[in-house]
Amino acid sequence: MGNPPKKRSDRRSKRKFNGNTFTGPVYEKRRKIDEVREEKITLNASFAKLGIRHNTQPELDKNEDCRPEGFRIIDMELFADFMCSFICPSCQEDKTLTVSEQILNGLASKILVKCTRSNECNFEKKFITSKRISGKSRCYVVKRQFTLAMCAIGRHRMQAERFTTNMDMPPPQTTESWNRHLTVIGKVTETVAEVSKKRAANHARQEEETTSDVTVSCDGTWQKRGFSSKNGIATVLTVDPNGAGCRVVDTEVMSNYCNICSTMKHKLNEQEFKKWSEDHKSKGLCLKNHSGSAGAMEPAGMSKIFRRSVKLRKLRYTGYLGDGDSKSFNAVATADPPIYSNASIDKLECCGHIQKRIGKRPMDKVTQCRSKMYKENGKRYKGIGGQGRLT
Ligand SMILES: [Zn+2]
Ligand SMILES: [Zn+2]
Repeated sequence: MGNPPKKRSDRRSKRKFNGNTFTGPVYEKRRKIDEVREEKITLNASFAKLGIRHNTQPELDKNEDCRPEGFRIIDMELFADFMCSFICPSCQEDKTLTVSEQILNGLASKILVKCTRSNECNFEKKFITSKRISGKSRCYVVKRQFTLAMCAIGRHRMQAERFTTNMDMPPPQTTESWNRHLTVIGKVTETVAEVSKKRAANHARQEEETTSDVTVSCDGTWQKRGFSSKNGIATVLTVDPNGAGCRVVDTEVMSNYCNICSTMKHKLNEQEFKKWSEDHKSKGLCLKNHSGSAGAMEPAGMSKIFRRSVKLRKLRYTGYLGDGDSKSFNAVATADPPIYSNASIDKLECCGHIQKRIGKRPMDKVTQCRSKMYKENGKRYKGIGGQGRLT
């Protein structure tokens, strides 16, 4: 479990952000354009692969801006009232339409509009609130996209159910269906991530087809705080000296637990389990790829990434930019046999950490002088901080 937050009596009140070198109007504009573009590229790629959105509109329509797309949250009562306000297209009578709904599995519904003058008029029209996926399964887009959205915020079906209950919506699809979508999303995400990482590596390489030496920023993180986490991940990013953005070139997920193994261990006796386990591991189905503490995951993962860098990415990570913790650096720098036969790995100090330390001293001074009074141009000030002064 995570550590409880530290109690600090000297915690200063939250400082307001008043801008820095990256917040000028030009910067802001460029950053926004870049961000939107990046996001669009990755989202479109993922959506197309998931069959959620078809990228088949060749020419931009003139009315493109007016044509709505995506999902909305609608009050169905208002929607039904709206539909009923039309005259019947068949018998041209006013106030004869009724709207009924049939809830399909998941968040999709079938809406049926019918004329009540059943003896004279047989007008009936239905529509389904979600498109179907352009793939083999042909299931509703909303199911897959809702699963994806929940994944994106790190929540699962149980929380999705709580969400829909509180929103007075129909419940999400069954657990089986949910898990099926999760598998697809997992596979697609992996593919898209791999493409993105490869692209980042190509970007970092100075010349095609030759191995380049690059500086990378390395860090690890865990699923849970503290050292009890069963899953951890080591990440390597390229560092761009021009500040054009760092890109992830490689990641390694480390896990010291496999839930299939642990359930089977209870089901089978020792000998059966041994036999099953060999088969399970040889097929590459076991999720456990690390034995040892959670703290040792980052160095182990980092070694793996560095070892495969030349073969996989045609890059040699010769500059290592890490945080204060040097365990991972030691693991790759003093590996036996050495990771790169004719190059050493150098450690670089992150200027962000130095910046942090330099930044902290003046701020401490501001805190110290908080209650002192100062005079400037005849005006009296309390403390030395604040807007237009030392922040
Ligand atoms: Zn009618
Ligand atoms: Zn296993």
